[in-house]
Amino acid sequence: MPPIENREIRLASRPKGAPTAANFTLARTKLKSLPDRQVLVRNLFMSVDPYTRGRMNDGKSYVPPFKIGKALEGGAIGKVIESRAKEFKPGDIVTSKFGWREYFMAPAKELQLINRAVQPLSVYLGALGMTGMTAWAGLQVGEVKAGDVVYISGAAGAVGNVAGQLAKLRGCRVIGSAGSPEKVKFLRKKCGFDVAFDYHAGPVSEQLKAAAPDGIDVYFDNVGGESLVAALDALRLHGRIIACGGISGYNAKKPEPGPANLFNITTKRLTMKGLIVGDWLDQRAEFEKEVGRYFRGDKLKNHETVVVGIDQAVDAFLGLFEGQNVGKMVVKLA
Ligand code: NDP
Repeated sequence: MPPIENREIRLASRPKGAPTAANFTLARTKLKSLPDRQVLVRNLFMSVDPYTRGRMNDGKSYVPPFKIGKALEGGAIGKVIESRAKEFKPGDIVTSKFGWREYFMAPAKELQLINRAVQPLSVYLGALGMTGMTAWAGLQVGEVKAGDVVYISGAAGAVGNVAGQLAKLRGCRVIGSAGSPEKVKFLRKKCGFDVAFDYHAGPVSEQLKAAAPDGIDVYFDNVGGESLVAALDALRLHGRIIACGGISGYNAKKPEPGPANLFNITTKRLTMKGLIVGDWLDQRAEFEKEVGRYFRGDKLKNHETVVVGIDQAVDAFLGLFEGQNVGKMVVKLA
């Protein structure tokens, strides 16, 4: 059999500020024969995620930086083509961290078997994947309970839409902000949010006040910046902030100054807790039990934007910073 030709996206250079297509290259490789105890996988879907931006920088963070000239990494769903490890057989569907490429070989311990009956398989990158789990874990971090008024920024994205749907299922009043009138409609009509607003349409503080005149109990922060400032003012006594992400600052050339109204934390006895989904992996079974049940029961929908082809992956990633996705942005590879 001739060697399999693989295409993969590599880091060409480190961005200064917003990344561009010039920071990436699409490389072709030929796969060697499969080593003993390894598995050959054809990727079917790969994820693009905002945290990838942080890994393009040099320097230490909670995840190691990508190396220049090497393929990027990210969540992927693939099909086993050949296996020399007893744990997997051809046809198995697996998740891995080896996205940004069409094929790869890896030891069995790097792969997790998933149920191929669940369709579309890309749900394992969305509602039942890392981003869905982030939403689920975030609600626990924020001790969200029935009756809470919850404000979610970046609400129409992968984490935000699931966080909102789960908060509704828990009996909360849910407010979301997103970047276009279409997304506002999506949040109201498809995700069940009680109120949604477009953060470009006017100051967030004014729009949030109109949406929650008596204040909010919980802020699920995906974006930081102006939304965090508005939430600090809107939070009620003993309110909670789930510090999940800060995409408004990811492309800043130097760190933006922090909110000028942080003293609200003291006066209102607020709690602000950081969340890294990787810390929750040992609770995966519990997450799948609850969110999987909602998904199978059609109580929680997986929303996604799908682009096709590895040659579109970079644009899909760059599109996250321009709000081009509704729900989870995924790239279909086969
Ligand atoms: P999304 O699917 O939400 O995609 C990113 C979205 O961010 C875009 O669609 C866009 O929507 C919005 N956005 C882009 N630029 C800005 C800006 N300057 N200001 C406000 N909004 C902006 O991504 P995810 O759901 O995967 O991630 C959401 C957040 O959660 C990110 O900050 C991410 O880093 C974080 N995260 C954290 C994890 C953790 O473990 N702590 C795990 C996973 C994600 P719009 O049109 O509304 O602007």
